[in-house]
Amino acid sequence: MTNSELWQSVLAQMQFHISKANFATWFQNTEIISIDEEKATISVPNAFSKEWLSNKYNKLILKTLHDIDDKIKDLEFIIKPQLAKSPATKILIENERIETEQLKFDEFKINKDTNLNPRYTFDGFVVGSFNELAHAAALAVSENPGVTYNPLFIYGGVGLGKTHLIQSIGNKITENSKKKKVKYISSEKFVSGIVSAIRSGNIESFKANLSSIDVLIIDDIQFLAGKNKTQEEFFHAFNSLYEKNRQIVLSSDRPPNAIPELEERLRSRFEGGMIADISLPDYETRLVILKQKTQEKNIELPDDVLEYIATNVKKNIRELEGALNKLLIYYKINNNVTNLETAKKLLKGFVFSPFDVASYKKIIEAVAKFYNLEEKNLFDPTRRKEIVRPRQVAMFLMRRELKYSFPAIARKFGGKDHTTAIYAYKKILQESEENNKLTEELNLIKQRIYSG
Ligand code: ADP
Ligand code: MG
Repeated sequence: MTNSELWQSVLAQMQFHISKANFATWFQNTEIISIDEEKATISVPNAFSKEWLSNKYNKLILKTLHDIDDKIKDLEFIIKPQLAKSPATKILIENERIETEQLKFDEFKINKDTNLNPRYTFDGFVVGSFNELAHAAALAVSENPGVTYNPLFIYGGVGLGKTHLIQSIGNKITENSKKKKVKYISSEKFVSGIVSAIRSGNIESFKANLSSIDVLIIDDIQFLAGKNKTQEEFFHAFNSLYEKNRQIVLSSDRPPNAIPELEERLRSRFEGGMIADISLPDYETRLVILKQKTQEKNIELPDDVLEYIATNVKKNIRELEGALNKLLIYYKINNNVTNLETAKKLLKGFVFSPFDVASYKKIIEAVAKFYNLEEKNLFDPTRRKEIVRPRQVAMFLMRRELKYSFPAIARKFGGKDHTTAIYAYKKILQESEENNKLTEELNLIKQRIYSG
């Protein structure tokens, strides 16, 4: 790799970390002018850039360089006013083009009435054993809205295709019948819509608006947790649509019975319809997805590169796309298909992902998040059930996933007696064998631990 190629891949990666505006400001007209032993010298156009890059981005640049070439351990910036266009400018222009193309595409196309993005279709949705139930249910709903499964509740971890699938339903229904009023709303939008309607005294018209919808699709419904007023309004909207046989489609990162602080009456409404999950795709399916995406994006990649990605990028489908996009940028800049060796370098960040390893910190974080607690709550010296149970789960996972000894677990929890840790482990183990809900919770928490 020449210095210029090396710098280009650094620049390509920097753009994943910083905003476009910052990138344009600080990286324009920069290049590697030499690498001596362990030190890379980078020229920058002025003192201003030098200061910013060395103060703010030094670490990130060094890490990125080091990831690609591990002999580099130090950085120096020197000022070198430039006239000619450097690789940074070139990459910028290219990316600007790619980005505006994408932006335009999405912006133009998001339907103002339905909020649906036409990119999300059943045609572009790869089906495998990990999502076939959810897909079949979605298809059935799109063919017979309001009749077959109501509500349809799709759940699964991030980046696994929930939004894609539920929007496909909406797109299919509008395609079949222009008359049907379809609305896709994220939970955040739904909440803020209700809040501002209440504030401005327009809640009645907000409700009237909702009740005229034929197909209501709400994404990431877990965000309604704990928002009582919103849940109340949602409950009424739900009932009024449901009674008129209007279709309701919901997605969440977990099943209804694992959403904390969800009103019982809503939970039982959700459970009254069809619940389908999406899990992780296996290797074969990842490969199929990659092939499908390369076709969509109009880029050709050698089989060994695709296999390499499918083998190593396992976190979710969004990451698979991210890996492809990285190669796509390289491809557009260099007009050259990535070979396996370059792909490996470009994808280092994806492959050596710390996500595959569990840690104490991640367990605490995932457990606390899952149960809607602050991390420090897990260590509260209390016997309250809302805390004791999550703490037992954390102890159980530390034993199971990290093989911590019981005394070590007890120490982490403020020097509790190690029999407490043993008790917690046994209790969770036994209960999870008898209780599907707990098993499912443990699985979802583990998914979070291992997927960052
Ligand atoms: P989620 O809503 O579950 O976080 P998304 O629906 O946003 O995930 O999916 C992340 C990305 O992966 C999207 O770009 C989507 O098009 C793509 N994707 C997810 N599942 C599939 C699939 N089965 N086939 C093709 N692309 C998929
Ligand atoms: Mg989503």
